[in-house]
Parts: sequence; structure tokens; C-alpha cells
Amino acid sequence: MINLVLFGSPGAGKGTQANRLEEKYNLIHISTGDIFRYNIKNKTDLGKKAKSYMIKGQLVPDAVTIKMLGSEVEKNKDAKGFIFDGFPRTTAQAKALDDLLAQKNAVVNAMLSLQVDDEILVKRLLERGKTSGRKDDANEEIIRKRIRIYYEQTDIVKSYYKKDDKYYRIDGVGEIEEITARLSEVVDKFI
Ligand code: AMP
Repeated sequence: MINLVLFGSPGAGKGTQANRLEEKYNLIHISTGDIFRYNIKNKTDLGKKAKSYMIKGQLVPDAVTIKMLGSEVEKNKDAKGFIFDGFPRTTAQAKALDDLLAQKNAVVNAMLSLQVDDEILVKRLLERGKTSGRKDDANEEIIRKRIRIYYEQTDIVKSYYKKDDKYYRIDGVGEIEEITARLSEVVDKFI
């Protein structure tokens, strides 16, 4: 099994690159943000729990997010591996992911962290907001808040993976194909 954490601030390109890596390496792509949005759209209990946090640009509580991630992994028992996109966003989530994978005799092989300057992130997200229909992309104040929350609560997760030599910094600026090639250089080490 190969398990990758695709990391980076909002707008860093995690979703775009995860879709490409999913196809290239035949892995299951789990985007916690996409799952929350799907549940909000379908007005499920999970959607109701997540909605108030998401529209404000805040993190959904760990207990809710970890439980949801666990059931998503369980839905894919035969997976060759996973690409986790937007998860973990806290150290508690990173620990929970290790515990979950340990039950499958598996580990996170690498954290691939896409680095993009903040002002480029804001521009990208405002641009995405014109077509994505995402309320949290439509408002510059919410976008800046999400980036701030990333630095306050999520950036620290890097150190969790650094201590095990699993952290890889990837330049997230350039052509989409070019960035996929940079990510693939690392992924290929584990194939
Ligand atoms: P994303 O699509 O990854 O940008 O996530 C959109 C929003 O979903 C975030 O701003 C959070 O409100 C929520 N969310 C997604 N993943 C997580 C997570 N791992 N932990 C907490 N909240 C999350």
C-alpha cells in the first residue's frame, strides 16, 4: 500500500494535482473538503454539522472529521493506496491517520507539501470562485481567513512528518504538468 498526504494552503493546487496522481498511480483520492461539500449539498447530518464552520472558513472539529475519514477509508478496502487531500489539517488528525493505517499494516509514505506565495493563493482562489460555486472562494475576507487559519492551525502538521523524514517540499508555482512531474519524482521512490 502507498499512502500520500497532499498538503498545502488553500489554493495551493492540492485538488488539481491529486486528481492527476490518482489517475497516474491508480490510488484512491480522498478530499475531505469535497466530501463535506457533497454532504452539505445533500443536507445530511454530517453536512449540517460541517456547514457553519465551512462558510466561516474555520476547520470542522477533529472528532467529526476523523470519523468521516475513517468511514471513507473503510469504503475502499481493496485500495492500492490513498491520496489524502486536505487531511490531516491538525496534529490530532495526523495521529488518527497513523492509527487508522496501522490497523491495515500501512503507513503514510510521504507528505507532499505544495508551496505557493500567499498573494498568488489569494489571486488563484478569487479566480476559482468565479466558476467553482464555492461560497468560501467568493469573498476575499474569507479567503484570507482560511489562509490565516492554515498558518495558525495546519502548517504545524509539517513537523509531525518532518520528524520521520516523510516531509517533501514541492514548488507549487508553474505549469500544472510541471508540478505533477515534481510530485511524481517523489512518488516514484515508493512505487
Ligand atoms: P478544502 O476543500 O480542502 O479547501 O476544504 C474546505 C473547507 O472544508 C475547509 O475550509 C474546512 O472548513 C473544511 N475541511 C476540509 N478538510 C478538513 C479537515 N481535514 N479538517 C477540518 N476541516 C476541514
